[in-house]
Amino acid sequence: MPATIMPMTKYIFVTGGVVSSVGKGITVASIGTLLKSRGLTVSVQKLDPYLNVDPGTMSPYQHGEVFVTRDGAETDLDLGNYERFIDIELTADSAITSGQIYSTVIAKERRGDFMGGTIQVIPHVTTEIKERLRILAQKSQAEVILVEVGGTVGDIEGQPFLEAIRQMRNDVGRDNVLYIHVTLLPYIGSTKELKTKPTQHSVNELRRMGIQPDVIVCRADYPISDGIRDKLSQFCDVERKAVIPLTTVDSIYQVPLVLEEEGIGNLLVERLGLQSAPPDLKDWQRMVACPIDYHQPVKVAVVGKYVELEDAYYSVRESLCHAGLAHGRSVEISWVQSEDLEKNGDIETLLRDVQGVVVPGGFGNRGIEGMISAARYARENRIPYFGLCLGMQIQVIEFARFALGSDQPNSTEFNPGTSHPVIDLLPEQRGVADMGGTMRLGNYTCHIQPGTIAALAYGDDACVVVERHRHRFEFNNDYRERLNAAGLVYSGLSPDGRLVEICELKNHPWMLGCQFHPEFGSRPNRPHPLFMGFVGAAKEILREGSQPWLPL
Ligand code: GLN
Repeated sequence: MPATIMPMTKYIFVTGGVVSSVGKGITVASIGTLLKSRGLTVSVQKLDPYLNVDPGTMSPYQHGEVFVTRDGAETDLDLGNYERFIDIELTADSAITSGQIYSTVIAKERRGDFMGGTIQVIPHVTTEIKERLRILAQKSQAEVILVEVGGTVGDIEGQPFLEAIRQMRNDVGRDNVLYIHVTLLPYIGSTKELKTKPTQHSVNELRRMGIQPDVIVCRADYPISDGIRDKLSQFCDVERKAVIPLTTVDSIYQVPLVLEEEGIGNLLVERLGLQSAPPDLKDWQRMVACPIDYHQPVKVAVVGKYVELEDAYYSVRESLCHAGLAHGRSVEISWVQSEDLEKNGDIETLLRDVQGVVVPGGFGNRGIEGMISAARYARENRIPYFGLCLGMQIQVIEFARFALGSDQPNSTEFNPGTSHPVIDLLPEQRGVADMGGTMRLGNYTCHIQPGTIAALAYGDDACVVVERHRHRFEFNNDYRERLNAAGLVYSGLSPDGRLVEICELKNHPWMLGCQFHPEFGSRPNRPHPLFMGFVGAAKEILREGSQPWLPL
């Protein structure tokens, strides 16, 4: 039975061709920016073909960052770009995987919902996919839903999704559906030319599934000539003005402006028969054109264990960049493998030049002692330090080792038998056996304590904030008094006062850790207050002649 779909909703389906990582997510996010700038309401959905229920259990090396929505869904990092570019907040309804679809279909079969029928990819799996599209359309009431199909056309596991989006054309009417294909034009160095053949093949592959793209967005590292546009228009049967060139730009935040310039905004509005205002991109233009002093970058070390893959810290990198933009400075990140701080012990060489240290989120034992050394270095040398979730726990462990004069303080995540469990499992986590989706996830309220660095960052009157979480361990309250007496201040607490959500160090320019993930809330034109505070403090630090930190 076909799913019932909202009559007024317009759908833009975006597929990828030739190779992955061509910037499909940024293209979708940018199109969202352009539609919203015309006064249209927009929502976005990502369809990921893998069989995991969500990426929460995947290694960051496999998948990059796990982006957490306000309602606590662990999702693909593309959702972060949708939120940042369109300035919306998404929910679990925007992150669909084959794992979710199949588990729902199989659960229905076990319940007997299919009345003895044979369960098949078509129609049962495709109907379930379309049901997820309907749910988002209904809940968001958006005029336009952008749907990104993960992976590349031709992938076996992506086929049910392509079939579902093909069926949508008939379900909701041809005038309400549009297909965009994002491809790569590879550059051949010896002949100095961009090649269109892989795009032609990938469009053919899409057609084999019954989908004719209406628009092709061509990514390339070199300018795309008129001849190439003509050729693609001819061979892929796409109108000339619907072949949109997108050459590599310095900053991802330029992409909406480039696409607008190429006319994609008007084209989409026209094709879908949308009533809209002229685009208002003034804020965006101002943000992109904001004068940056590139000669004086703020140098920040991000110390983590997945640094070989920058995507693992995607939102952290973007949040630092947003705060840099607002301070008129670029932020130069040096990615420091925390294990290197353990092995050769040459912390001075690796951190000598930086004006700030960030320890981002993470799980498991590897590289922990290196992160603790980085926190010690930041404390002793009075370098701004920003701990994000795990980074706050590291800050507490390091400070407790100093304050208690013992090398024992640790988290029970890393040493279950420690005699000083300064970080311990949240009570509600005891007895949790399933690893998927069971952490303390999503939005929680935090009360900021007046007169603290945190209060200064958030603005004095903003004493209650809501931030996104993803953790199992917490500050152990048995140590609250002792560490406070030695100089640790609890500047953010849960409403009942039980959970330490932010802690900071006295007599230090800026050493703060938060149990939540502020990086998920930062926007290019509205940086997160804590990132603003950290980059602002780092910018002021001159390494020569800095005073060592002194205990109280
Ligand atoms: N591993 C830590 C915990 O579970 C920190 C989690 C994180 O950094 N997201 O509490």
